Amino acid sequence: MAELKNELVWSHSRARTFSGCLRAYWYTYYGSWGGWSSDAPAAYRAAYVQKKLTTRAMWTGTVVHGAAESAIRRLASGGTLDLEGGVRGTVQRAREDIEGSQTGAWLQRPAKRTGFREHYYGETVEPAAWDAALAEIERQVRGLHENKVFRRIAQVPERVMEVEELRRFRVGSAEVYASLDVLMADGAGGVVIIDWKTGEAHSDEVIAAQLGVYGIYAAQELGIPTDRVKAMHVNLRHGTLTLHPVGPAEIEAAREEIETSVASMRALLTDVAGNTTDQTDYPMVAEGNARCRYCSFRRGCAREN
Ligand code: SF4
Repeated sequence: MAELKNELVWSHSRARTFSGCLRAYWYTYYGSWGGWSSDAPAAYRAAYVQKKLTTRAMWTGTVVHGAAESAIRRLASGGTLDLEGGVRGTVQRAREDIEGSQTGAWLQRPAKRTGFREHYYGETVEPAAWDAALAEIERQVRGLHENKVFRRIAQVPERVMEVEELRRFRVGSAEVYASLDVLMADGAGGVVIIDWKTGEAHSDEVIAAQLGVYGIYAAQELGIPTDRVKAMHVNLRHGTLTLHPVGPAEIEAAREEIETSVASMRALLTDVAGNTTDQTDYPMVAEGNARCRYCSFRRGCAREN
């Protein structure tokens, strides 16, 4: 098999990581590279495992997105929904995630299985908090099926164009990854981008920037006229729906953001063509910074206490 090449491919999540602690960014995209291999150097293997760690809040989002994805895929391929069976299966798999993390079994396949920071770092979490996370997952999956956007998708499944497909495309000088939760044809030559959110706090500004990138994809890669692209984010925790304009101005702003962000990332590389780094160019945040307390990489940084 050809050796995988570490390339700088911009994504919204990469940009968010870059805007936080630079050392965490380095661990995520460089210091863990190759750590999936059993013969990787120990530090790279450890960073790879740590990069895979999740938290109850992040995992809730992953599980609910997975439930939405499989329900919509089923609808799009002509199947019917089974809410009770879907909820049972989702909650059962979620319980297995918790058990596999607790026992450490997940470490045998960290890329495929779920590992919680809470277990890895021995954080005290009361059993009731795990039960509450499972209950929230069930509540959100049930809420998804009652959600008016989801119900509309279920009425016109033939209009589903994409569900969580990882796309790579070029924007100016940058390669970009994006994955849309759902892309629907609107039946009149346009598209609707649907983004599920599951957390407590989401900034409209951050969501709008993310949807702008999806707008570039729809316009540039699918040839949809920019005045025919609509986007919405649906918060399944709170049952809210927010519409976001994704017209020429938002798309242009997203292009500029990508170019600026990629330029900042490249500026730290020791060799842009080779995408190589020197760890010391990615400083840790100052001792005592609150970020370290919850960071996946705190062991590597000796910031566990
Ligand atoms: S532990 Fe602190 S310094 Fe280290 S990567 Fe995380 S946030 Fe940065």
